[in-house]
Order: sequence, then C-alpha cells, then structure tokens
Amino acid sequence: MGTRPENCGLNVEQVRRGEHVTFMPIEGHVTGLIGYMLGDPAARLAVVIDPPLGGTELILALLAEGAQRLSMVVRTHVHANDREGDSCAGLCERTGATLVVGHTPHSHAPTGVCAVHHGDMLTFGGETLSVLATPGHTMDSVSYLWRDRLMCGDMLEFGGGSGEDDQSSPALQYDSLTRRLFSLPEQTLIFPAHPMKGRRVALLSELKGRLTPMLGAGRDAFIASMALRRTAVG
Ligand SMILES: [Zn+2]
Repeated sequence: MGTRPENCGLNVEQVRRGEHVTFMPIEGHVTGLIGYMLGDPAARLAVVIDPPLGGTELILALLAEGAQRLSMVVRTHVHANDREGDSCAGLCERTGATLVVGHTPHSHAPTGVCAVHHGDMLTFGGETLSVLATPGHTMDSVSYLWRDRLMCGDMLEFGGGSGEDDQSSPALQYDSLTRRLFSLPEQTLIFPAHPMKGRRVALLSELKGRLTPMLGAGRDAFIASMALRRTAVG
C-alpha cells in the first residue's frame, strides 16, 4: 500500500476557505426522518440538523472518523409528541454539543437549550447557518440555510402523515412558503426532513412549479384545501 500525501491531495488553502466542507444526509431507519451533518475539516467542527432516532452511533462514528467535535445539534421543529427528543439530548450529552431549537412566542427554552429567531446566524468553524422562521407545520418551525442549501424540516408537509399533530397552521404555512421560501434564489437546493414523493432534494424553481396549483389560488383557498385534507386524513 502506497503512502498518501498529507491532506489526501487537498489544497490546504481550499480547505481553509471551506471548499471541502462535508455535507451528509443521515437517514433514520426508525422514523424515516432525514438529518444532515455538516463538517468543517479545517476547524474540525461539525453540526447536525435533525439527527434521526437511531442515528446516534453513526453520527459518533463519523465524528471520530473526521476527528471532528460536534458543536451543535440543530432542530427544525419539535412536535408535542416528540420522538427524537431523548436521542438529541443524549447526543448533546455525549458530545458536549449545544441543542438549538426554534423560538416559540409562548414558551421558554429549557436551560442550556438555545432558542433561535429569524435572522440569527449559527457559526461553526468558518461556516454559517442562517435561521429562517418558517412556522406553519408547527409554531416553532425554522429552516436553516447553508450556502445554496436549505434544510426546511417538514415545511413542505401537507398532511401526508409524518407524525403531524394539531399544532399546524395552514395560514402560517402559506405565508412561510410564499414569503420566506419563495424569496430565496431559484437555484436553492431544498432538503426536506422527509422525502417528497420519494425525492430527497429539489431545486426551488422546480418546487415553485409543483406548488403553484396548490398555492396559486390564494391564501384562503389554501387554508380551505388544507382543512379538507385534514378531514380526509383524520
Ligand atoms: Zn414534523
């Protein structure tokens, strides 16, 4: 076996500029949730967005492999019947990471938990996650923009049954989609927390086309159609 050059051929300046930040989906085999792990090799820091139930050991192995420290466990939303809460807390405990959740107007985050607002920036190494408040699926729903990628949680969930409870607000969902999501550049890559009809990523321009029949009739029509879906599902 030959010896590999130091840095495996990567240009150190490229690494320092963050061009080799790793971005990896972490698929949950228990609930089907898809999380995302981002690692900055130069800073030896990583964050994980929505770590799925059953994914802790994989995340720890990836951290060890990259000799990276997990700085944050970031969640797009928390349901009342939260299934990932204990494993997220356990991951934080084992790594020293900070738990980050979306702020909700009428509740306070527990001690040690960081509640983020629209416009907040989360940094790890030389990288930044921008927080977009995108309530609707739940009141605390937030999305995280990293470069040209948006991790949007269940913002695109329309009553298809990903553990949805009655915290959803179609009116807020409409506003989040049309005002926040649609104002991003057309080439933004959208990564949902659950596959959309089998797809794990879509271009925003493509999504806009797909959502136009649902959203194009206006806010009131969207609210009415969501009420109908709920009745059909429930
Ligand atoms: Zn959800």
